[in-house]
Amino acid sequence: MEKSQEKSRSLFAEAKKLIPGGVNSPVRACAAVGGEPRFILSARGAYLTDVDGNQYLDYVGSWGPLILGHADPAVIAAVAEAAERGTSFGAPTEAEIVLARLLVTCVPSMDMVRLVSSGTEAAMSAVRLARGATGRDLVIKFTGCYHGHSDSLLVEAGSGVATLGIPGSPGVPQAIASLTLSLPYNDPEAVSRAMETYGDRVACIIVEPVAGNMGVVPPEPGFLEHLRSVCDRFGTLLVFDEVITGFRLSLGGAQALYKITPDLTCLGKIIGGGLPMGAYGGRRDLMEKIAPAGPVYQAGTLSGNPLAVAAGIAAVGQLIRNGEPFYRELSRKAEVLVAGVGKAAEKHGITACANRVGSMSTLFFAPGPVKNYTDAKTSDTKAYGHYFRLMTRAGFNFAPSQFEALFVSGAHTDDDIEKTIAAADRAFAEMAKG
Ligand code: PLP
Repeated sequence: MEKSQEKSRSLFAEAKKLIPGGVNSPVRACAAVGGEPRFILSARGAYLTDVDGNQYLDYVGSWGPLILGHADPAVIAAVAEAAERGTSFGAPTEAEIVLARLLVTCVPSMDMVRLVSSGTEAAMSAVRLARGATGRDLVIKFTGCYHGHSDSLLVEAGSGVATLGIPGSPGVPQAIASLTLSLPYNDPEAVSRAMETYGDRVACIIVEPVAGNMGVVPPEPGFLEHLRSVCDRFGTLLVFDEVITGFRLSLGGAQALYKITPDLTCLGKIIGGGLPMGAYGGRRDLMEKIAPAGPVYQAGTLSGNPLAVAAGIAAVGQLIRNGEPFYRELSRKAEVLVAGVGKAAEKHGITACANRVGSMSTLFFAPGPVKNYTDAKTSDTKAYGHYFRLMTRAGFNFAPSQFEALFVSGAHTDDDIEKTIAAADRAFAEMAKG
């Protein structure tokens, strides 16, 4: 049954007069999948409700943060209680120490951590610290990885940049872009070659240890180990951008899962419990180079904001109490979902392959395997758009782009997963008609 979108449509038309493209972050516009955004009224657990009263079983989870589901009662209570005491002080609070301690206890490579307000800030600041600490200018990243929209990192990026199919952005000076080398993900030889040529000028290699912004792409065995050893050889810092994977794949993130120790780690999304929050941290000797302990400057009016910190403590605290069984359960549900949807695609002769690590997955409309951005780009994005529209109509909220992750949260039940597989089966049957 076609859902009414009347109110969303009229709000989108209104928004476009006031906000560029009608949205405050590009991918939300849904242009890549041939749709228009639903304006959301409220959400609870695994479900979103839009302004037209339609309900959607949500697999976006605000792009990753909501691992406990929407409007988690403990997070809501913590934010409300903190708000009663004031929304911002611009001065330190005890709660910041509590959150910092939770983060450094869980993330193996972190001795110290600095709280910021977004993943973009976390990655940008980690790169500045790497440059400041090494006295070098060059940065190596991987094509299709996204580390936020700072100038140095918006080169051959994933996420919205991949969705819009643009190589970079006007406004990033060529002089800055030329300091960033972008290499193919999962290609240790390319890394070795680049490091043989530039190694003693490279401040850091920054990587999503499990890529989530070209769709989900796991590291090939040995890839992360290779990055670690090549960094050690050249005195280059290894930065893991765990903005998605931190507290998503395990309490210790991807670094705990793959047992690699980066020099610096970027966090975001989950650690703010759905409020604006990011963090970067690492070895004490590096972190003590940050102002005011050291000379590398980084600051923020709302950094360590009391509401975001309260939400973060409530979310991370719950994850710690739930422990690894919670992560095993998320993985199990995601495995059932991915296997069921994959089987349904095969049954209807739809070309597709899935990548999954823990509770993050992507169904690529490509024969696969997908090991890097070049492989991901072979996907039939029109087919993804068709699938997206059919699933939306059936009441499921997926990312409006082929090059993003689907997230299973603690709020998804086995019944939700079964419903999703059944709806995907019907969608593929429709797509198979051509
Ligand atoms: N790093 C990664 C791996 C991300 O996925 C994102 C956002 O999706 C960012 C950094 C930027 O975070 P934010 O959107 O909070 O600025």
